[in-house]
Amino acid sequence: MTTTTSAIAAPAPGGPLAPTTIERRDLRPGDVLIDIAYAGICHSDLHQVNQDWGTAIFPMVPGHEIAGVVAAVGSDVTKYQVGDRVGVGCMVDSCGECEYCRAGSEQFCVKGNVQTYNGVGFDGENTYGGYSRQIVVKDAFVCRIPEGISLDVAAPLLCAGITTYSPLRRWGAGPGKKVAVVGLGGLGHMAVKLAVAMGADVTVLSQSLKKQEDGLRLGAKDYYATGDESTFETLTGRFDVILNTVSAKLPVDAYLSLLRVGGAMVNVGAPGEPLEYNVFSLIGGNRVLAGSMIGGIAETQEMLDFCAEHGVGAEIETISADQVNEAYARVENSDVRYRFVIDAATIGA
Ligand code: NAP
Ligand code: ZN
Repeated sequence: MTTTTSAIAAPAPGGPLAPTTIERRDLRPGDVLIDIAYAGICHSDLHQVNQDWGTAIFPMVPGHEIAGVVAAVGSDVTKYQVGDRVGVGCMVDSCGECEYCRAGSEQFCVKGNVQTYNGVGFDGENTYGGYSRQIVVKDAFVCRIPEGISLDVAAPLLCAGITTYSPLRRWGAGPGKKVAVVGLGGLGHMAVKLAVAMGADVTVLSQSLKKQEDGLRLGAKDYYATGDESTFETLTGRFDVILNTVSAKLPVDAYLSLLRVGGAMVNVGAPGEPLEYNVFSLIGGNRVLAGSMIGGIAETQEMLDFCAEHGVGAEIETISADQVNEAYARVENSDVRYRFVIDAATIGA
């Protein structure tokens, strides 16, 4: 048995997206039914619709930045009640038994985590994401949105928030640390806010200075244009951590030269094209080139609580369902300030 719900889908690779309906499973004992209020548009949604990362499943209902309210719970659910404010990120299931699941790193489940969309559940059913009115998710993959963060600015935290929070924590962003954030988009603006809240000294490295005022308002101390070659001379050897959030290929060696001895460049940006670097850029300063994928469920809850405590939310532009294709074009052109969020009430309305 299933329930029909309105959604926005890419029927085929490349889009455009269009209204449709999808089926949601009836509640199993451990499931939560969520009335979605807002769904953020992540650049990963564009990569997946465009098959930048390989063959994907169509029709595709993207969306892994979901905020809403619990509408019903399965018979075994004790963690949530009807009316609770909740969020769902990039994963909706994992084996729960492997060493990574047990350590709270479900994203690295040895059986593969089940992605919120463009995935296949352990039941063999395709998954459909947050650009829809309702979703059914196992309670263990649902997080609580603390009071004090409204649902619209909370939605992007479920991917952009955790994807930047996790590496900033792991690589020690905090007082006395100089952190550079490359790219001021959805992830980048969250990285700035979070690193500032952690007490780090933050610099934005953006293609141009056109968003400088915003970057400084978000708490960055410095803002440089990477389109200006003198930037790389000025900043040589300056940073402890560089967080690369750029959705396209970057000249890695130039960025590595900005690290102090022992510093780390951590990549969260995920272009389809391989990055290239010269190994001497690492050897010549004991430098680290790293990556980071989202974060586990417990860490996502920790991030949400941290955001509530520090008054951190996303800067958003709320759109209706019929503006999604236009929003995609703007994300593609780095014309987003700083996350588009779909008002789910307009889906199928
Ligand atoms: P976004 O909002 O489009 O922001 C990306 C930013 O990168 C742009 O605003 C722009 O910033 C910069 N940029 C874009 N094209 C560029 C180019 N050709 N050269 C230099 N800079 C460029 O995207 P997002 O949603 O933040 O996602 C960013 C990337 O992270 C995507 O690849 C996404 O798939 C990936 N991602 C990874 C994870 C993970 O777990 N690792 C999770 C979520 C997303 P400026 O205008 O300031 O230069
Ligand atoms: Zn995402």
